[in-house]
Amino acid sequence: MNLIEVTEKFPDELTATKFFEKARWKETKKCAYCGSDSVSSRKSDYRFTCFNCNKSFSVTVNTMLHRTRIPLRTWLIAFSLVTDAKKGISAKQLERNLDVSYKTAWRMGMKMRKLMREPAGKLDDVVEMDETYVGGKPRRGGLSTLTKAEKAYYDRTVERLDKRFDISEGKEKKKWIPAHLVKRGRGTRKVPVVGIVERDGNVVAKVMEKLTHDNLKAMVQKNVEEEDAVLITDKYSGYNRLSRIIDHIKVDHEKMYSYRGINTNTIESFWAIIKRGIIGQYHKVSLRYLPEYITEFVFKYNNRNDDDMFKTLVLNSMQTQRARA
Ligand SMILES: [Zn+2]
Repeated sequence: MNLIEVTEKFPDELTATKFFEKARWKETKKCAYCGSDSVSSRKSDYRFTCFNCNKSFSVTVNTMLHRTRIPLRTWLIAFSLVTDAKKGISAKQLERNLDVSYKTAWRMGMKMRKLMREPAGKLDDVVEMDETYVGGKPRRGGLSTLTKAEKAYYDRTVERLDKRFDISEGKEKKKWIPAHLVKRGRGTRKVPVVGIVERDGNVVAKVMEKLTHDNLKAMVQKNVEEEDAVLITDKYSGYNRLSRIIDHIKVDHEKMYSYRGINTNTIESFWAIIKRGIIGQYHKVSLRYLPEYITEFVFKYNNRNDDDMFKTLVLNSMQTQRARA
């Protein structure tokens, strides 16, 4: 639902509240504490009283929006904005469009990403697995493949330039650091994100601190129908022994990108979406919150054929916390 539709359909807090109530209870309101359907009619403050346990409750009690102080109509507008923004939406933009403080906008963004956490189901058929690095994929081997002569040349160059520019990495200036470990910007470093996608299906992706065989294998076992699926990866050695648990094809990217359908194009295009979003909207993504941003792109990818992501978010927001735990 786009912004105009939302503001027309929900002109005030009452219409917005009724929409959430319908998402939570369908036709029969039930007490949020004891489940009794013997409840009072609406009070002026949008609360109900239970005739069974005497407690009072609103539609958000014990849901993912428990104790929110933001009007529910504002939440609906936020849901519309965030699901319409293919590349994501920054807290700054939410702040402007919702007329809330930056801090509130930021928190709402994070809450909405939480609502986007959904199980992808087991991936099947042709699945592609790959890793990327936020901030760019390092050239494998990087500086370690330098010849002695090249290394000597770079050593000399660094020492020469050192007198004029601070290009060193502090105390580590004498050490050769693989390209992917070089710090860029203040307190930032590149972190691997691993993804598996089923062609014409869902994607799963997660931040993986260490790309070990065990971690990669566990991710396949958790998310892929090992018995039936065929897995395509590139030649990265971390994937080497996966053929023990699944039918595994490796693409040698030094020789070809695609040959008769053997390629990793689908997962590559997912990385392209993530990068456009993270570079375009979330360029100051802290590593601490990277998993949440990834959740958002996974959600949008997996719901790409569903034209009512808005409704999905409303339903997810009304799940009780116990059901989601
Ligand atoms: Zn009750």
